[in-house]
Amino acid sequence: MYRITASAGFSAAHHLREYQGKCENQHGHNWRVTATVRGESLGSDGMLVDFGDLRRMLREVCAELDHTDVNTHPHFAVHNPTAENIAAWIFSEVERKLAGAGYAALMDSVSVEETDGSTASWSRP
Ligand SMILES: [Zn+2]
Repeated sequence: MYRITASAGFSAAHHLREYQGKCENQHGHNWRVTATVRGESLGSDGMLVDFGDLRRMLREVCAELDHTDVNTHPHFAVHNPTAENIAAWIFSEVERKLAGAGYAALMDSVSVEETDGSTASWSRP
């Protein structure tokens, strides 16, 4: 199995609902995001997915949240904007772009580092 990973990031505000503590107040993070795709076979060019393509897709998804209040995004108006939920949302958005670009590779996982040493990731069960 081949895997490739691309990284991007975004800076945004959020606050957590149903949470008692500092994070119920609005605050900001510089989230670091990595997306990994996997596949058993390479294209005739010897690539699983062009790094540039994967990075662009990930950046486009991150740009949707960059310099926003994540809680105002339609998805996160419903789902609490935790690192876990952000990872799952980014996973599905990049997955859609990957399929749209005609790649046969599958999404493997998305990891979201919220602060140094605190990372949440999501992959399909
Ligand atoms: Zn936070």
